[in-house]
Amino acid sequence: MDERAYFERLDSTASDPAELFEHFERRSVGEYPSHVLPSARHGIERGTVILDAADAIVRGYPSIPRVLALDAGVTSFFEADETIFAEEKLDGFNVRVADVGDDGPLAFTRGGYVCPYTTARVRELLDLGEFFEYHPEKMLCAELIGPETPYTTHDYEEVDSDAVRVFDVRDRESAAPLTVPERRDLCERYAFPQPRLFGRYDRSEATEEIWAAVEELDDDAREGVVMKTAEGDSMVKYTTESKHHDELEHAFSLLFDLGRDFVFSRITREAFQAAEFDESEERLQERAHDLGESILRPAVETIRRVEAGETVGERHRVRGGTEEIDALLEHLRDLSLTIDVEEDYREDDQRVVEFLKVAESTADRTQYYLEGGTY
Ligand code: ATP
Repeated sequence: MDERAYFERLDSTASDPAELFEHFERRSVGEYPSHVLPSARHGIERGTVILDAADAIVRGYPSIPRVLALDAGVTSFFEADETIFAEEKLDGFNVRVADVGDDGPLAFTRGGYVCPYTTARVRELLDLGEFFEYHPEKMLCAELIGPETPYTTHDYEEVDSDAVRVFDVRDRESAAPLTVPERRDLCERYAFPQPRLFGRYDRSEATEEIWAAVEELDDDAREGVVMKTAEGDSMVKYTTESKHHDELEHAFSLLFDLGRDFVFSRITREAFQAAEFDESEERLQERAHDLGESILRPAVETIRRVEAGETVGERHRVRGGTEEIDALLEHLRDLSLTIDVEEDYREDDQRVVEFLKVAESTADRTQYYLEGGTY
C-alpha cells in the first residue's frame, strides 16, 4: 500500500503517514485485503477502510455527540440564526453502502467489516444499480432496522422483518455530506426510504418542538431524534425514556458482558431528562419505578435462567438465502462470537435461522456466584 498517497487523500490531522497508519489494522474484508481503522484517530473516523486492490477509501461514519440537557444543549450547539432539522433517530445498526467491490456494492458495518448478510439485504432492499451508476463516489449511510437482523432486534410497527432507512449520503473518500435538503431530495428520487423528518426549526422554537416529538416517540417506544444543521455536517442526538430503559434492560440481562460505563451513561441520561422535564412528583416517581424495573427484572431473570441450566445471550432471527446465512454465521464466528443455532428451517422459500450470541462472561460469572463464589 502506498501510504503516502493514501495519507494525502485522507487529509488527516496527523503530521506524517506513520503517525496515522500505525493505528490501522490489516484485515481481510470479506475476500478483499484491506486496512481498517478500529477507532477514531487524527480526524479520521472509526471504521474507515482502505481497499488497496480497488484503490478505494471508505470513510467511517462520525460519532454523533449527545446532549443531556435538551434546551441548554440546543442553545449551545446551534447558532442563533441556524435552521435545525430534526429527524427521527432509528434503532438499528449503522451500515455504509459503497460500490467498491468487483461484483457490486458492499455493506460496511461501523467497525469496518463487510457483512455478507447485510450486503445481500441492502442489495435486495434498495435499488442500488442506478444510484451508483450516477454517483459512484458516494456512500449511502443507512440504518438496518426491524426484528430480523443479525445485530439489533428493535420492533417497529411498520417493519415485519427488516428494512433500510437512508439517513445520510456522503462522499466516501472525503466524508463530506450532502446537505439535508439535497439528501432528502436525492433519496426520494431513487425511492430510498428515509427516517421521518419532524421539521425544520429556528433555534428559539426548537426545544419545545423537539420535546413534543420526543414525547410522541416515547409513547411509541421509539428511540429519539438527531438534530442537524442544513449542511448536515453538524449533528447532535437526544433519546427517549423508553430507549434508556430498553438499553438498561438489555445491559442487566447480560449482567457481566456490558460494562459499568454503559450502565452509568444510561442512568445519567435519565437523570438529566427527569431533572429537565419531570415537573410533577408523580411523573418522577413513575420514571423511578420504571427505571428500577428495567434494572432488576432482567437481571433476576438471567440469574434464574443460568440456575436452570439455560444458555444466555442475545437472540436474533434472520431470513434469506442458504449461502448468505451460512456466510453470516461464519462471519460472526470469525469475530470470535460464540453462536448457538437454535432453529433452522424453511419458510416461504427462504431459510430462517434463530441463533443466540452467547454471553460468555454473564454465563460464567453468574454460575460462579450461584455456586457460592465471592464477589
Ligand atoms: P456514536 O454516535 O457516539 O458513535 P453509537 O455508535 O452508540 O454512538 P448511536 O448512539 O446509536 O451510536 O447514535 C448514532 C447512530 O444513530 C448513527 O451512527 C446512525 O447509525 C444512527 N441513526 C439512526 N437514525 C439516524 C438519523 N436520522 N441520522 C443520523 N444517524 C442516525
